[in-house]
Amino acid sequence: LTSGLETAWNKLKGEEVLTKENIAEPMRDIRRALLEADVSLPVVRRFVQAVSDQAVGTGVIRGVRPDQQLVKIVNDELVKLMGGEVSELVFAKTGPTVILLAGLQGVGKTTVSAKLALYLKKQGKSCMLIAGDVYRPAAIDQLVILGEQVGVPVYSAGTEIKPAEIARKGLEEARKKNVNVVIMDTAGRFQIDKVMMDELKEVKRVLNPTEVLLVVDAMTGQEAAALVTTFNLEIGITGAILTKLDGDSRGGAALSVKEVSGKPIKLVGRGERIEDLEPFYPDRMAGRILGMGDVLSFVEKAQEVMRQEDAEELQKKIMSAKFDFNDFLKQTRAVAQMGSMSRVIGMIPGMGKVTPAQIREAEKNLKIMEAMIEAMTPEEREKPELLAESPARRKRVAQDSGKTEQQVSQLVAQLFQMRVRMKNLMGVMEGGSIPALSN
Ligand code: GDP
Ligand code: MG
Repeated sequence: LTSGLETAWNKLKGEEVLTKENIAEPMRDIRRALLEADVSLPVVRRFVQAVSDQAVGTGVIRGVRPDQQLVKIVNDELVKLMGGEVSELVFAKTGPTVILLAGLQGVGKTTVSAKLALYLKKQGKSCMLIAGDVYRPAAIDQLVILGEQVGVPVYSAGTEIKPAEIARKGLEEARKKNVNVVIMDTAGRFQIDKVMMDELKEVKRVLNPTEVLLVVDAMTGQEAAALVTTFNLEIGITGAILTKLDGDSRGGAALSVKEVSGKPIKLVGRGERIEDLEPFYPDRMAGRILGMGDVLSFVEKAQEVMRQEDAEELQKKIMSAKFDFNDFLKQTRAVAQMGSMSRVIGMIPGMGKVTPAQIREAEKNLKIMEAMIEAMTPEEREKPELLAESPARRKRVAQDSGKTEQQVSQLVAQLFQMRVRMKNLMGVMEGGSIPALSN
């Protein structure tokens, strides 16, 4: 997915704003990249539409290139698609919390049962496991062994008894033991079939679970969408657990679950070890899919530093040659803040490396400038001409700020140079001469 998107971003290099025309090609690449990542087609369609709508009509953020801006929009939409926030497990108000695990065979249900028990145990909850896979005797042994490993009791009743009956007895046992959480492992099949669904419905009726979590193998890709839809319609799920994210899955399953079922992914399995279970963070997943986490934090920072309104205000001032020392200070501070993010900036292709020495120098200069600007009267800050015309005023500012007259003259000259540079940048050439400082 990452390389496909990289092409998409590259196509925007050199553009100034995002338009319907210039995002058309990158959007095609994004679409292709998502399809290649095994995201289902309807989800891709809705996603691309949402991103396009947002991208067109997004104003310019100073210091942020349009390709970076598009990365940000795609990222935010990805996060939204995956549910936005972390979805916590729900616990019962009274009595034991019951978690029913469902899913196809081999997706990792039995492993997840034990992982989840350990995960909750670490949070100070007492747990009990119920072995509900009556089709494979080995599955019961597997759960018993895992239960021992994590130090959690396992209720089993062999294979000669219906899963719903095991569920009823297991729950009774859990109540007696007064445990906080009961986790029931169930049998899966290679495909969705009526027997499995009927059994699950029955188990669900008996347990009245707090959470019904569908365990989904991340490698399932596109089919995850249909799978989640069916399970949700048939038995009703409260969320999903995505397993085997440590493999070379392309992330498609993660993107489809919430969109097709309205139910969030709550946890992810990232390995075969019993500790490898963690909450699902939509933002981290989006970052992983995009492979551009650092660009994102850069864009966010830039947005904070220079809010859109400020930028527009500034632009107006430049156009009318009103750019004064107050703006100068704001601008310089913003640049300095960006400088302190050099690590991030250095990672963005084409931004070049900012050395620590350069940053220290910039920060030192900023302090000197701040001191001088603070020594100016409000009138002088708004009308730099006053300082350009009057050596006496410059002398006073120098004395009050503890700097030399030469430094003050330099600062004043710098402001006028900046006015001209900015006007030139904007293609407004008239009226931008640098006054010679009178002596
Ligand atoms: P079940 O049939 O759904 O109960 O699946 P199991 O729990 O028996 O797991 C099937 C296989 O997947 C086992 O070999 C597990 O070790 C493996 N497995 C489960 N979760 C993960 C995971 O997050 N990452 C990896 N790499 N393997 C996993
Ligand atoms: Mg199993």
